[in-house]
Amino acid sequence: MSSVNITFPDGTIKEYKHGVTPMDIALSISEGLARNCVVAEVNHRLTDMTRPITKDTAVRLITWKDPEAHEIVLHSTAHTMAQAVQRLFPDVKVTIGPAIENRFYYDFDTPTPFTEGDLVKIEAEMKIIIKEDLRVERKEISRNDAIDFFDKLGESYKVEIISEIPEDEMLTLYSQGEFTDLCRGPHIVSTGKIPAFKLLSVAGAYWRGDEKNKMLSRIYGTAFSSKKELKAYLELLEEAKKRDHRKLGKELDLFEISETVGPGLSLWYPKGATLRKLLEDYWYAEHRKRGYDIIQTPHIGKAELWETSGHLDFYKESMYPVMPVEGQDYYLKPMNCPFHIMVYKRHQTSYRDLPIRYAELGTVYRYELSGVLHGLMRVRGFTQDDAHIFCTLEQLNDEVEKLLLFSFDYLKAFGFEEYEVYLSTQPEEKFVGEPALWEKAQKSLSKSLKKLNIDYKVEEGGGAFYGPKIDIKIKDAIGRMWQCTTIQFDFNLPDHFDMVYTGSDGEHHRPFVIHRAIMGSLERFIGVLIEHTAGKFPLWYAPVQLKIIPVSEKYNETATTIAQAAIDKNLRVEVDKRNERVGYKIREAETQKIPYMIVVGQKEEDGGVVKLRHQGGEELASMSVKEMIAFLKEREEMRD
Ligand SMILES: [Zn+2]
Ligand SMILES: [Zn+2]
Repeated sequence: MSSVNITFPDGTIKEYKHGVTPMDIALSISEGLARNCVVAEVNHRLTDMTRPITKDTAVRLITWKDPEAHEIVLHSTAHTMAQAVQRLFPDVKVTIGPAIENRFYYDFDTPTPFTEGDLVKIEAEMKIIIKEDLRVERKEISRNDAIDFFDKLGESYKVEIISEIPEDEMLTLYSQGEFTDLCRGPHIVSTGKIPAFKLLSVAGAYWRGDEKNKMLSRIYGTAFSSKKELKAYLELLEEAKKRDHRKLGKELDLFEISETVGPGLSLWYPKGATLRKLLEDYWYAEHRKRGYDIIQTPHIGKAELWETSGHLDFYKESMYPVMPVEGQDYYLKPMNCPFHIMVYKRHQTSYRDLPIRYAELGTVYRYELSGVLHGLMRVRGFTQDDAHIFCTLEQLNDEVEKLLLFSFDYLKAFGFEEYEVYLSTQPEEKFVGEPALWEKAQKSLSKSLKKLNIDYKVEEGGGAFYGPKIDIKIKDAIGRMWQCTTIQFDFNLPDHFDMVYTGSDGEHHRPFVIHRAIMGSLERFIGVLIEHTAGKFPLWYAPVQLKIIPVSEKYNETATTIAQAAIDKNLRVEVDKRNERVGYKIREAETQKIPYMIVVGQKEEDGGVVKLRHQGGEELASMSVKEMIAFLKEREEMRD
């Protein structure tokens, strides 16, 4: 065993001495390459550049250009931040610090929560640690030794985490200078390798996300493989901040998530409710066109229903506590499915009745930890644009194809033209239903995707335990991806509810059941729309389409008459009757992002003509009030 054969990604095999490290391999190719390496993929797993290789294996060197590098640099920067924090604040205890999408965070137990000002100091100390270029060293350790190690340091959170790990497991510690963290790794070779980072914000976070636990101080940061990428990301964050739906929701007077009402519960103001109603109207119209029946079901249901469906088994921790009423137990609904199935079961179904498509804007309630709630994007009560499709095997392909076309058309109407599509297949272990059914469902999903020429990624084993699914993520105006549409098969509920239809052979068969939501939920979709449009809603779903501004109180009556004519044609109009200067009122209509406005003064009153002004200042030629209304109706019709 004096040598090992290393297979490179291009298939070439080279011999190296036993115990060679990825770093040695990189150096044997070129010094430049070695400098650029972050970690290595050895035998399909990412490992440190310094770990010896003791058997024949495949090696891929990961450089800054590879997507895998990002998570490594994020995580290494998190360690460096924790080190800086401990240097500056010795009595702070560390907890956990994972990398998340484009960012990392670390939660600290500190007597006084960190402030934005502390971030500047911590950043400065991190720069010193980077300059020190400390080697990052990996060490294997038994679980009990790890407990001793962190116990001596007084790091009680680490001790708590490690105590939950099985006793015989070997753990790894990563050290850089005086700082050591429990970590799976891998990490960069030394702290000097961190190319670009920035600390972003501080926040409070409960230990383990549980509000019964202690409140910790969380620091968010980001890091990138180059200064250029970091700059682009910080610019994106700036833009995202301007578009934050919580901020715009307040400024545009749309909605509120009020602490008095309860976290995760949205209160819709008139304009927000109008926006919502417009989306609902569009939703109903599109569903009727496509052969859906609209149904309506209650917000609560008896325990028996949730027992039959299995929700009390596998979904209980997301459900609100039981409500006993007249000796019966009730639960708030976390999903609409059991109700839709009850509607299906109201009579004998024949194959001639299928497919049946039931749709409902169904409001459901799910218990989410308060720490993960986020504006409208993650709430506790939300309205799913839910539908269930019941069909035969023969109808499967057709239905899936229709669903996909429907989803893409629907999203396109809101200006989403770029997507990422994921097909998630049968989990390896925990799943229900015959593998043959899974196979059929997966085939029809992939067949439809291929037929419609849709690029998609397969997430092997990523399906729910009850069936395979397609998820669609949409790209917003500033390039962020949002999960919206989901199309899921269900092999669980048809059995639990003993759903049948009579086939052409006179026998009973199980229908296929597909759950689907296109928007996902109204709340979330509106959140995404606000951020996508930056609050500049197009005419067809703007809560206020036209603002009428009288130049003085003298013209309030004329303005009101014009408004009424437009309202009679079902346009959404507001008159600004306040005794304010015209310029001020125009500016306010602009900041309210109202698509059109007109100013009404003597000329307008005498001539019966108006000049429409488009949001942003562009002015249209004079037209009569009737022409203006016709113009707006036409633009609305075009979904402008
Ligand atoms: Zn770590
Ligand atoms: Zn469902």
